[in-house]
Amino acid sequence: MTIAHHPDEELLAAYAAGALDLGQRVAIATHLAACESCRGWIRAMEQVGGALISDMAPTALAEGALA
Ligand SMILES: [Zn+2]
Repeated sequence: MTIAHHPDEELLAAYAAGALDLGQRVAIATHLAACESCRGWIRAMEQVGGALISDMAPTALAEGALA
């Protein structure tokens, strides 16, 4: 099967950031299961996000943040 359409980068970035609703996440996850190119793009975005978080100064959690 040849994949002819890929989600745009804005949608993939929102997926990597966990910012999509359930229907969008399911649609993107289904695409990713068959598309190595987009999986690679997601991995790169997750690595960028991880690097940004690791460079942030530690901050105390707000009262009740774990509730
Ligand atoms: Zn793709």
